[in-house]
Amino acid sequence: MTTNLLDFDLQGLVAYCEQLGEKRFRATQLFRWIHQRGAKDFSQMTDLAKSLREKLQHEAEIRPLPVITQHESQDGTIKWLFDVGDGNAVESVFIPEDDRGTLCVSSQAGCAVGCRFCSTGHQGFSRNLSTGEILAQLWFAEHFLRAHLKTDERVITNVVMMGMGEPLQNYSALVPALRTMLDDHGYGLSRRRVTVSTSGVVPMMDRLSQDCAVALAVSLHAPNDPLRDNLVPLNKKYPLDELLQACQRYLEFAPRDFITFEYCMLDGVNDQPEHAKQLVELIRSYGNGRPWCKLNLIPFNPFPASGLLRSSNERVTAFAKALSDAGIVTTVRKTRGDDIDAACGQLAGDVKDRTRAAERMAKQRTIMLKPTAG
Ligand code: SF4
Repeated sequence: MTTNLLDFDLQGLVAYCEQLGEKRFRATQLFRWIHQRGAKDFSQMTDLAKSLREKLQHEAEIRPLPVITQHESQDGTIKWLFDVGDGNAVESVFIPEDDRGTLCVSSQAGCAVGCRFCSTGHQGFSRNLSTGEILAQLWFAEHFLRAHLKTDERVITNVVMMGMGEPLQNYSALVPALRTMLDDHGYGLSRRRVTVSTSGVVPMMDRLSQDCAVALAVSLHAPNDPLRDNLVPLNKKYPLDELLQACQRYLEFAPRDFITFEYCMLDGVNDQPEHAKQLVELIRSYGNGRPWCKLNLIPFNPFPASGLLRSSNERVTAFAKALSDAGIVTTVRKTRGDDIDAACGQLAGDVKDRTRAAERMAKQRTIMLKPTAG
């Protein structure tokens, strides 16, 4: 099989070129052709020696992911479903705003964490994506959009690793992909504009802080361990105290002076006044009195298998006010791309429900609602 050059960060491409008997600067030229100019065909790369181009033609390729579907929402959001083989598909979503263009990227086909409110979690886990498959999403989207918008300027200014999968459970493929996003010869994004979202894989948060400290978002979703155990099963392994201590350690290296907490608002489950109060107390018990996090409240996007409902707008507003009144910077995420099922947590596409999670989750909901409904 030919080598997929999308699998390499610049350092990896240098090593590959050296194996071919080529100098380092050839790797930089090649890297720029691939990521900055979106080239796929080696014959386009006219400043590379002909002998190298011929070698690459025989041994290497820039392997895109086949696009299964592309849907554009009325609000400009675009969702792509990519084929990653063996009946698996992953999704990427482009979200345009006035001052930025954000691409939401997937890191795994399915996900093993199994968060209750997440349609990806309901599919179960198929496999990790390779670095090349993670980067192929950005490579395709950036160059498709430039052609579509008829511009040579960068279109994607921000990347969030918030698509399908838990990125920190695919660490070895993730880090070279992040490095390529940040590399000035690659996509040249600042560390503040690349965000890894994690459900709380504590040891890997510490490693990321050393290897590639990009912005961090943590899926919190609950203010106490029993509720979080139920909503985000990984909490049983890394409970809130361990997670929030890891956040404090991460902050020493983070490109921003805050961590973002994602909090999906679930009707009657985690959206009550007492939950807001507990959340304030929890956050205040870390950070030595200084502000250290922001809360992003996410309106839940219901899907049939979840058995969960979206909190009312009034409830979300009251929850946000309780946090803001306590001095915690709180935003409510705008739902985007609702008409194409592109909003967060709806990234399952038509992939089959492997885990019979729907039945299991429905049972769990009955158990969980007893102590928390109020
Ligand atoms: S929210 Fe993230 S970590 Fe949880 S199941 Fe979904 S993809 Fe996995």
